[in-house]
Amino acid sequence: MSKYDLIVIGGGSGGVATANRASTYGAKVALIEKSQMGGTCVNVGCVPKKIMWTAASLKEAIHEAKNYGFKTEFKEFDWNALKQKRDEYIVRLNAGYERGLAGNKVEVIRGEATFEAANVIRVGGNTYQSPHILIATGGYPVIPNISGAHLGMTSDGFFDLDHQPKKIAIVGAGYIAVEFAGLLNTLGSEVSLILRNNEFLRHFDQSIRSALMTEMEKDGVKVIRQTEIKEVKKTSNSISLITKSDEELANFDQVIWAIGRAPNTQALQLEKTGIQMTQAGYIVVNKFQETNTPGIYAVGDITGNHELTPVAIAAGRRLADRLFNGQDERHLTYENIPTVIFSHPPIGTVGLTETEAVTKFGFESVRVYESKFKPMHYAFNPDGAHCLMKIIVSGPDEKVVGCHGIGMGMDEMMQGFAVAVRMGATKEDFDDTVAIHPTAAEEMVTMKTSRVANTSAK
Ligand code: FAD
Ligand code: NDP
Repeated sequence: MSKYDLIVIGGGSGGVATANRASTYGAKVALIEKSQMGGTCVNVGCVPKKIMWTAASLKEAIHEAKNYGFKTEFKEFDWNALKQKRDEYIVRLNAGYERGLAGNKVEVIRGEATFEAANVIRVGGNTYQSPHILIATGGYPVIPNISGAHLGMTSDGFFDLDHQPKKIAIVGAGYIAVEFAGLLNTLGSEVSLILRNNEFLRHFDQSIRSALMTEMEKDGVKVIRQTEIKEVKKTSNSISLITKSDEELANFDQVIWAIGRAPNTQALQLEKTGIQMTQAGYIVVNKFQETNTPGIYAVGDITGNHELTPVAIAAGRRLADRLFNGQDERHLTYENIPTVIFSHPPIGTVGLTETEAVTKFGFESVRVYESKFKPMHYAFNPDGAHCLMKIIVSGPDEKVVGCHGIGMGMDEMMQGFAVAVRMGATKEDFDDTVAIHPTAAEEMVTMKTSRVANTSAK
């Protein structure tokens, strides 16, 4: 049996980062991956999604160029040509990940890992032993348990499409539903976004998600609210969705389920480890990413906590720092984690929503600075999307506890503000920062008037 200082199961964002970091400290590390290196983010997540979002943004830019005097017309978008280039790019990234691991002397084992015992892993006919085993096996997109659900696809299937859907239904209300609806609509597909509630992104700040809803509906996304699907049917050349109130939503050429993800634990045989899991099957860890079984850890989506690539990476690297570099207290604090929704226009956010701030600090303690404006980029376009920026402060020193925005450039803007919020900046610190002009971002440091929190946020 081969022996290691650390065995990592899963070569996605969290697993690769942990393995590389641990090996730089001299640990003997094996990483087990059953599929392409890079995991969800690289192969069927952030990377191909961002490429499609960029394509859609370029189409918007072509239209905008006319307003700036360019004699340009949008003629055609070659979906399949982009898909091929995107796939080639991902193959290059896969290879880059492999080179990185090889350079760090991480031994890559190909295959599906199962636990033989708490400190022994089996892959095929071989067994491997280590006092430290990290589970970083991520998740998979779920499909609903209804008749005909297989006629729809998930985000994984979306990235296999070699042609652009003409008329598509997207069921769901989270990041993926909103991002896919935005990019497909912008690229010219007819999009119906089907929500079981009235709103999407219900855990995001109310003003920001309302602003996105307004922009998306203005841009032509058909939002169908309060609708649950009970059946999917195929007709000769299209797909129909039957709602729980027996309506038929017809004539789609594709349907995407974007109703969330589930943890990848099936193959692991965790019953042999005694590891505690939540009801939904996520692995329970403490702040040091430790499970209840000594020597077994988990990071990333498999823990169900902030399912984002940089979170998996940060948690994994800190774990390696602690286990192999003597940084005994090193761990990730799951607070003030910035995130971007690559919608059209994008949302950037860090810290508490208005509702969360009121819940945490009390209505009297919270004030809200808000600014809505048309960015100069759209100086010649009356239909151009507005920006909305929002700073939520708490206490007499007006500490910034939430910073949110929607609008062009917000995706690139939020990272810097996340540093400020993490460092405990106050509104006065924002005001004391010299603006960069003319930008949309300068609005974040020039907001003057504040209001009390919305009573509905109480
Ligand atoms: P994964 O990246 O899922 O890696 C897990 C790996 O484990 C996989 O490679 C899998 O093959 C392997 N594995 C599973 N079981 C076994 C086993 N038994 N043996 C061996 N190997 C196994 N996040 C962002 O931050 N920004 C974005 O813009 C963004 N966009 C996204 C878009 C989409 C469409 C999706 C689906 C996700 C997106 N995410 C985004 C989320 C991000 O992809 C995940 O949070 C991240 O990939 C989680 O990393 P992980 O290491 O936990 O798991
Ligand atoms: P999410 O968990 O974000 O959203 C899924 C939503 O779909 C639920 O919140 C729910 O909203 C709705 N829903 C759930 N079940 C059903 C159902 N049966 N019928 C209709 N609607 C349903 O999942 P996603 O799949 O969008 O994304 C998974 C995760 O991946 C995200 O949470 C995020 O962490 C990550 N991700 C990050 C991105 C980024 O950083 N830009 C991009 C894409 C993904 P409601 O309760 O309101 O109905």
